[in-house]
This record gives sequence, structure tokens and C-alpha cells, in this order.
Amino acid sequence: MKTIGLIGGMSWESSAEYYRHINELVKLRRGGHNNAKSLMATVNFEEIKTMQYAGRWDEAGEQLAQVARQVQAGGADFIVLCTNTMHKVAATIEAAISIPFLHISDPTGEAIRAAGIRSVALLATNFTMEQIFYRQRLEDKFGLSVLVPAAADRKVVHDIIYDELCQGIIRDESRAAYQRIIRSLQDEGAEGVILGCTEITLLIGANDSPLPVFDTTRLHCEAAVDFALGT
Ligand code: GLU
Repeated sequence: MKTIGLIGGMSWESSAEYYRHINELVKLRRGGHNNAKSLMATVNFEEIKTMQYAGRWDEAGEQLAQVARQVQAGGADFIVLCTNTMHKVAATIEAAISIPFLHISDPTGEAIRAAGIRSVALLATNFTMEQIFYRQRLEDKFGLSVLVPAAADRKVVHDIIYDELCQGIIRDESRAAYQRIIRSLQDEGAEGVILGCTEITLLIGANDSPLPVFDTTRLHCEAAVDFALGT
């Protein structure tokens, strides 16, 4: 079994989900007392968030690249970055290490394609919804058409992520707001919805959504466990 190297803390609320999923999945597949071999390095999200909001992406990339080198030196066989947004600096991280980097969009794109879906809604931070780094990979590599909410609704989605989910606050009103936004994207032609922020899984499950959900946290963990077990 390979050792999974996780870069967490963005936020720790979702990193805890990664830790739970990878261990549960290995136990499910191997049984007994099997769990995932892993190393998690945790950054301080306040520092990263300050860089995001100031547009200091290069600095954030350098910091995460340094953390990736530490995780590699600690014995990890590959790297999993436990946030969609910070995949904006994936290339900087990949360039800093000699072990594989499991990009979060790839298992997501594969699952959407396997479901026969072409037009998909993306709920995420404003950075992920508005910039091209994330959607372009889905469009170019998987031939998907990616829909995002209108500006006012993007703000609702973004604020709930930072002000509530990343702080461990789960509110029924926020779930209802997400459901309303998913329905409006469905009206625009979306056939599925990407939970494109690793905390959204704390608020929205398959039963809460009028569209099939593609939970990036879960899909990323499944890919990590497949890679670790060589399946
Ligand atoms: N975890 C979130 C994501 O998947 C947001 C926090 C961050 O900006 O990294 O995008």
C-alpha cells in the first residue's frame, strides 16, 4: 500500500472529511483493521486566505510547494491537495516534487463523463467559479460544458463557504439557498452539479439536490485510495 500525502487545513473542516473517507474506504476494501497509510501537513488557513483575497497567488503557491516538499521528504508516495481553489497553483506544487500529484478535477471529470453528463453546474468559491484554471481543465480534458451561477448567487455560494462551512457552521437556510441555486442552474440546462469546494459536502448530500451531485471531496479520496491500493 502506498502512503498518501495530504496537504490540508484549507479548511481543516474538510481535511477531517478527507481523513475519514480515505480510512473508511481502505477499511471497506481491505477489511479487518486495514486503514490508509497517510501523512497530512496542515497549513494555517488564515494565512492562505489572506493571500487569496490579496491576489498573492504566487506566494501561496510557494508556501504550498514547500509543504509538498516536506510531505514528500516525510515518505509520501503521492500528493493530494485537499482544496479545489488552491489547485490554481497546482503547477507550482507539481514542479516542486518528484512524486505524482493527484489533481482533484480528474476524478471529478471522469465521474461526470461516466454518468453520461455533458453540461454540469459548478458550485465553488468565487476564485474557482470565476477564473479559468478549474473549469478549463474540465472543458478541455473531459469535453464538459460548465455552468456557474449569476453574480449575486455566486456571492451567496462563496460567502456561505468562507463564513459558515469553513468555520464548521451548517445552517438549514444555507442548504435551502444552495438548493434554490442548483434548481436555477438546472433550468439553464445543467444535468449534474459539481460540489467544487471541499466543504460543500458538509451542507449538501445526494438527497438534498435536485441534480446528481459530484462531490469532489469524496471523488478525490476514492482516487487517492485507488492509487494507494493500485486498483
Ligand atoms: N476548501 C475549499 C475549496 O475546495 C475552499 C477553501 C480554499 O480556498 O482553499 O475550494
